[in-house]
Amino acid sequence: MIPSFSYLRARTVDEAVRYLSLDGARAHAGGTDLLGCLREHIFDVTTVVSIAGLKELTGIEKTPAGGLRIGSLTTIADVARHPVIKSKYRALSMAAAEVASPQLRHQGTIGGNLCQKPRCWYYRGEFHCLRKGGDQCFAVDGENAYHCILGGENCFIVHPSDTAPALVALQASVTIAGPNDRRTVAVENFHIPPSEDYMRETVLEPAEIVTEIVLPPPADGLRSSYRKVRARRTWDFALAGVALAIGFSGDQAADCRVVLSGAAPVPWRSAEAEKIVKEGQLDRNRAAKAAAAALKAAEPMAQNEYKIPLFRGLIEQQLMAIG
Ligand SMILES: Cc1cc2nc3c(=O)[nH]c(=O)nc-3n(C[C@H](O)[C@H](O)[C@H](O)COP(=O)(O)OP(=O)(O)OC[C@H]3O[C@@H](n4cnc5c(N)ncnc54)[C@H](O)[C@@H]3O)c2cc1C
Repeated sequence: MIPSFSYLRARTVDEAVRYLSLDGARAHAGGTDLLGCLREHIFDVTTVVSIAGLKELTGIEKTPAGGLRIGSLTTIADVARHPVIKSKYRALSMAAAEVASPQLRHQGTIGGNLCQKPRCWYYRGEFHCLRKGGDQCFAVDGENAYHCILGGENCFIVHPSDTAPALVALQASVTIAGPNDRRTVAVENFHIPPSEDYMRETVLEPAEIVTEIVLPPPADGLRSSYRKVRARRTWDFALAGVALAIGFSGDQAADCRVVLSGAAPVPWRSAEAEKIVKEGQLDRNRAAKAAAAALKAAEPMAQNEYKIPLFRGLIEQQLMAIG
């Protein structure tokens, strides 16, 4: 059952921030994740602050610098079908199209997608796990087929968003509004690994909201992609996914980002794979070496070793497809 709470509709960003300064307040955008969290009693809430009416946080427009500004309340469906995103930031369009189901993509927002809570069944279930203030991660000795193989420490969730790895690959940043000021954070630094703090997923302070996502102008020769493997063809979160953004100069990768989803508690950038891709022409041998390097530090749990060959094949295949 959903607990009782007060409901406030913010009319401006400043008002939203003021309401969110109330103890136990939470932002409500599309509600597709928040309502599930309330129903599952993942956190206590006294006040739900709707930001859904803030028109200035919707829409996609070019920035004066030649990049793109996406308001945080823009729906995932609008991101997936936007013509400039489709042609210039293909990884983001492909990732958005892979999120959940058509209904959820029409209701869910890109800001909410970045801020959603993890999908670990112990965290979502009736388990007082570490992330909820308990003293253990139940996945360690439990059902861990869908948990992380990289970056796990204390807590072994996988980061759930499909758009976040694409945004990291495309070097996007978020603008954050809070009680004192506005600040900008690279999406790459927006999510917090459990090694730093296993009680928080993002750098957001309680009264802060994401107002926009900014994509830099696409570099010359930029090609990008996102591919996700999931257990079911209907809606499902990534078992394994890879976002690529490679700036080609001729057939040589001058710049390269390889970011994994379904692998780690945060979108996982593989510096090892990126280095190998940039060392020479992108042929099958190099793609296989880069894929192996991306998994070198993997530490699978009892039930998720299958992710290693899955990721290797996926990364190699995607590097060949983009090269
Ligand atoms: C059945 C199901 C399947 C799904 N499958 C996928 C999937 O395959 N891939 C995937 O990526 N996602 C998936 N999702 C997650 C879905 O994409 C998110 O629920 C959605 O993007 C969240 O957006 P929202 O606007 O509904 O957020 P809300 O539910 O309103 O909010 C989610 C969280 O973010 C916070 N929040 C929202 N907006 C902001 C903001 N602007 N600033 C700060 N905090 C904010 C809220 O307080 C809340 O904690 C799935 C969800 C469901 C229910």
